[in-house]
Amino acid sequence: MEEVLLEQILVYGTVFILCAITVFFYTRKKKVKSVIVEKKVEIAKEEGLFEPVSLYPHINLNYCIGSGACITACPEKDILGIKDGVATVINTANCIGHGACFHACPVEAITLKIGTEARGVDLPHVSESFETNFKGIYIAGELGGMGLIKNSVEQGQQAIENMVKAKKPSKENVIDVVIIGAGPAGISATLAAKQHGLTSVTLEQDSLGGTVYTFPRSKIVMTAPMDLPLYGKAKLYNTSKDELLQLWNKVISEHDIKIQENTKVESIIPIEDKTFKIVTNTNEEFICNHVLLAIGKRGSPRKLYVPGEDTQKVAYRLLEPENIKDKNVLVVGGGDSAIESALLLKDENNTTLSYRKDKFARLKPKNREKVQQAIEDGSMKVIYNSNVVSINEKDVLLKIDEDDEVKQIDNDLVYIFAGGELPTSFLEKAGVKITKRFGYTMKSH
Ligand SMILES: Cc1cc2nc3c(=O)[nH]c(=O)nc-3n(C[C@H](O)[C@H](O)[C@H](O)COP(=O)(O)OP(=O)(O)OC[C@H]3O[C@@H](n4cnc5c(N)ncnc54)[C@H](O)[C@@H]3O)c2cc1C
Repeated sequence: MEEVLLEQILVYGTVFILCAITVFFYTRKKKVKSVIVEKKVEIAKEEGLFEPVSLYPHINLNYCIGSGACITACPEKDILGIKDGVATVINTANCIGHGACFHACPVEAITLKIGTEARGVDLPHVSESFETNFKGIYIAGELGGMGLIKNSVEQGQQAIENMVKAKKPSKENVIDVVIIGAGPAGISATLAAKQHGLTSVTLEQDSLGGTVYTFPRSKIVMTAPMDLPLYGKAKLYNTSKDELLQLWNKVISEHDIKIQENTKVESIIPIEDKTFKIVTNTNEEFICNHVLLAIGKRGSPRKLYVPGEDTQKVAYRLLEPENIKDKNVLVVGGGDSAIESALLLKDENNTTLSYRKDKFARLKPKNREKVQQAIEDGSMKVIYNSNVVSINEKDVLLKIDEDDEVKQIDNDLVYIFAGGELPTSFLEKAGVKITKRFGYTMKSH
């Protein structure tokens, strides 16, 4: 009897100890993971990536059970993490807005929001038919608040279909619709306009593809099957920038459509008879019946407005740094984009960074360290307090504030990162109402 009891105590004791060890290690693992996530949140705050800039997941902690399904579903890295048993956002500013976390959460604890209580985000007024408060002006794509290629493609098409339904009569010598921007929304709208027999002109300040064009070649573009007008179902999941651009170019050329690149729309002026005059930076004018704004949210790069800025050697983005070798390069700007670009170029080129202030202000700590290192080891020059005066074929003139001197440096290429002009004032000038949204829910269950 005693032996049986002893045996039972031994068995229960062993089970208890094993359970205790398992619980101990499980809790410790969770704790370690929590500490790692906490550290990531701290770094995100230091680097200014904790606060969202556009659409982002908001977690209701009363519902969250810490399943981690949102983290598994998110195609990007370190947007979400688990801390103290519940989900938390980390690098919210990097959220692309896939919304995969929203769909994956088993307890519907996630809503997709735009703006926070502290920081509002400007959103234009758009009705369900994609028309703004100004009759005849429509918006499609990321500018309206919801990003992603598939959404933008669908909205571009739907906006045109709504224009057709609105039956504003066509007028002689007046284009049915001018589409501004040739990202996914603008391309899809252009195809839809052709499909519905509307006359249209598409104007793009940069290159066909919009934000997609600026992706690194190696980026995996996550998307979902979508209907492309004049093509049908494009069955794409994980694709590449090149595959997408090839598809768009193919459909456009097969249907004899022309998209006018390198043409920025400067103003939309309502004129007589409910039509609009569209004026471009090349002083071209188009008179149209409808306008579709498919200009995304990134805005236009701010220019320096100096002589020579409009030459081929000047760019406002760095697409393929690996192809730039043995050049005299000037990078202009003092923010993270300028620093990161200069760092990418410095090893293969003679790289100089010109910055108008006497020190860098708000940089990611890693960039600050790297730029300091590059200055010390001589792999990159930084000229503080300097402003570009002119850009010439073989050199650049910089005015140095301190000693009123003008410095001439040899130059083959100039990259300007002077920030962006957001489309807010452009929209307001056109009469489109903008509201600042503070924690506005775009998608909830
Ligand atoms: C780093 C990064 C990664 C991403 N990854 C993915 C992904 O994997 N999958 C996904 O679905 N989405 C992804 N996205 C989001 C996706 O790129 C955007 O949601 C989508 O491109 C929005 O399309 P759009 O047509 O509304 O605007 P955009 O693609 O931004 O195009 C707008 C166009 O309008 C032009 N424009 C602006 N102003 C003017 C003007 N005044 N005159 C003429 N032209 C003008 C711009 O030059 C631009 O080409 C990513 C975004 C980023 C930044």
